[in-house]
Amino acid sequence: MPGPTAPKPAERVSMGKRQPFEINGVSIAPGSRATVRLELPHQSAMTPMTMPVQIIHGTRDGPVMFVSAAIHGDEINGVEIIRQLVKARRFRGLKGTLITVPTVNVYGFINHSRYLPDGRDLNRSFPGSPRGSLASRLAYRFCSEILSRCTHGIDLHTGGGHRTNHPHIRANLDDPEIEAMAQAFGTPVIINANLKDGSLRQVATERGVRMLLYEAGSALRFNRLAVRAGVRGILKVMRHLRMLHKIKSSENDFSPLEARSSSWLRADVGGIFRSSVPLGQRVKKGQVLGEMSDLVGEYKSEIRATFDGIVIGRTQLPVVNEGDALFHIARFSDPTEVEAAVEAFHEEHLEGLNKGDLEPQPL
Ligand SMILES: [Zn+2]
Repeated sequence: MPGPTAPKPAERVSMGKRQPFEINGVSIAPGSRATVRLELPHQSAMTPMTMPVQIIHGTRDGPVMFVSAAIHGDEINGVEIIRQLVKARRFRGLKGTLITVPTVNVYGFINHSRYLPDGRDLNRSFPGSPRGSLASRLAYRFCSEILSRCTHGIDLHTGGGHRTNHPHIRANLDDPEIEAMAQAFGTPVIINANLKDGSLRQVATERGVRMLLYEAGSALRFNRLAVRAGVRGILKVMRHLRMLHKIKSSENDFSPLEARSSSWLRADVGGIFRSSVPLGQRVKKGQVLGEMSDLVGEYKSEIRATFDGIVIGRTQLPVVNEGDALFHIARFSDPTEVEAAVEAFHEEHLEGLNKGDLEPQPL
């Protein structure tokens, strides 16, 4: 008997002239959805390993967009974002095709780990090779089965290594179409982020796939604000791309603001760290953001902002070595406008929640 996770055959809902979507030997008719499981390299005990992929194939032509999560296996907010996205929406009238991949790095997801079992970072292993390392083979499988079929994409991440992020988009803003997608997603801060070697975003850029990276929350925890803003942001991008009906000309009560750079503020000394500013806080050069102390209370020093901006990331680990990253600040010469955008964003997404929901907690 098939278990609850067994793949379901594609269910035909309506007929159309559009071609079926073919993947992994499954043919998905227009107006229907199906879950397929891509076979992945086996581990030592030869346990079969698969990557679940859900395809929603619209009745009419349009963009083919992937939404992926857990490329870093412990970054699970995106897994929940995808679950809510495909569960809540029927996608009737969808133009194009939505491909969701909730756990790209299934190995890391199972082990609560950012990395592959061999210690490699999947997001430095693209485009990969069929004869490479485990990470390289997994990257290759994603590129050949998913990325090659797509015109657009959104990759969902969280802070790694005990760090937490205020929801923001990282993208190549020199491409006007990507910039428009980033604006549509509707986080208060968008960062024009450089491409990293071996990242999915680099390969997507080379292949002409327009892609956003959503950063929100922290690893191994759900965060209500991050999940809610993520689901809504994806739907806004889909409406922007006309995959779904537009509901009004502008969906955001504020204009997201673009930072051309951001920097981590690092600890000058080791010790115990206490933060005094929350995520999303506007900070001015010279402002005290927290303090460091030694273990016996004899030494204390203040951590001050070195430039004006908005706190978009912070460590959650109070035990700090010299040089550890403490605050990630997006640089804005005049953060007044972005401060108002952060407030409007919180008002939009924290309805029914409270400020405490910025912090990690069970859903
Ligand atoms: Zn990540």
